[in-house]
Amino acid sequence: MSELEGPLKDIFDVVIHRNPGEPEFQQAVHEVFETLTPVMAKHPEYEDVLTRMCEPERQIIFRVPWIDDDGKVQINRGFRVEFNSALGPYKGGLRFHPSVNLSIVKFLGFEQIFKNSLTGLPIGGGKGGSDFDPKGRSDREVMRFCQSFMTELYRHIGDKTDVPAGDIGVGGREIGYLFGQYKRITNRYESGVLTGKGLTWGGSQVRPEATGYGAVFFVDEMLKAKGQGFDGKKVLVSGSGNVATYAIEKIHQLGGTVIGCSDSSGYVIDEKGIDLELLKEVKQVRRARLSEYVELRGNGTKVGTDGTLWQVPADIALPCATQNELDEDDAKALVANGCQIVGEGANMPTTPEAIKVLQAAGIGFAPGKAANAGGVATSALEMQQNASRDSWSFEYTEERLSDIMRSIHETCVETADEYNDPNNYIAGANIAGFVHVAEAMLALGVI
Ligand code: GLU
Repeated sequence: MSELEGPLKDIFDVVIHRNPGEPEFQQAVHEVFETLTPVMAKHPEYEDVLTRMCEPERQIIFRVPWIDDDGKVQINRGFRVEFNSALGPYKGGLRFHPSVNLSIVKFLGFEQIFKNSLTGLPIGGGKGGSDFDPKGRSDREVMRFCQSFMTELYRHIGDKTDVPAGDIGVGGREIGYLFGQYKRITNRYESGVLTGKGLTWGGSQVRPEATGYGAVFFVDEMLKAKGQGFDGKKVLVSGSGNVATYAIEKIHQLGGTVIGCSDSSGYVIDEKGIDLELLKEVKQVRRARLSEYVELRGNGTKVGTDGTLWQVPADIALPCATQNELDEDDAKALVANGCQIVGEGANMPTTPEAIKVLQAAGIGFAPGKAANAGGVATSALEMQQNASRDSWSFEYTEERLSDIMRSIHETCVETADEYNDPNNYIAGANIAGFVHVAEAMLALGVI
């Protein structure tokens, strides 16, 4: 990590002191601070605001007891970090994964403040989750876990207070069980308390597709700025969950070919283009490993054995799996193989060292705060529909999403230019996201 100077260094030292043993949170804060030097020089009044912004408004940690199918009592830890509500109710997903701890939830919540601000919609930032591992658990176990989790969480959330959604390990099934328990405890059909709901009970068209589609729309804007498009491009998409699946779908619709994807067991290379229907069958219906995709596909498809997915030559790379999945060696391989653009579909998937390599080589780099904001933006559209008891068509909602992504791209470019750092999408996203929240916080007084 590069050295910070002046007030940014002083504020960062306080963050380190207050949040020991939280490497992911410290990394996320540092990545933002690195780009704020010119803003602080222009606006010394933002110093106090930034200090407050790094301290969550509220952090909730709770016990989640539940009984597994063998009748054994299981205990997990639940989290909800309500980070910043200057622009609107706390908004951000829930992640169920064994790696979840306070550092992970805080890094995600911190990123969410800036991402949500960039959408231009009235949503604050928050995040939550649990170290519960849904993998290998029966539907009944997942339901019992979700019900127990909500039995504590319900008292902290509400359509005007805090609105959770999905993230890794939390999809339509989990949101259903969580919403059912919330409805039961509160005796209210409060649709806007959760987003990512099913289409027949208050969900929005395009919400499942939104993060992946949005990331592709953003990269498409980057390509258009160079007078190009996805047509004929070879693309690597890591992951095979919700974000990756719909990123692949949109890339194929736009004429690109996704030649590789991955899961926690490894990666596959399919030079003819990933067969999306088969991928959905293997990952969403069977909840199986990618090796099953290879067996069923035939067609010269192979399981990758050399290094990582990022060592495979391609024009564009979209890390859509998880944090810190693309490291310095991967970045060097992408550069050596002539990759032109890296767009983050996941949250903070590229390590700081890898970002330096990519930027030094002049590769277009879209940070997650901007590139993956389509998911939460469409959640905000779901909240709008719930508030007006309305439901919009797929076409209309997709149009709104693509307008939002175009506008985020424009904001990033304009802000980077304004601060004399052209083509630096990280600086553009961080500065624009920060200034919007900082102005609101100043207006609301010291609270
Ligand atoms: N978990 C998603 C994200 O990282 C979506 C959050 C939401 O829809 O509230 O932005």
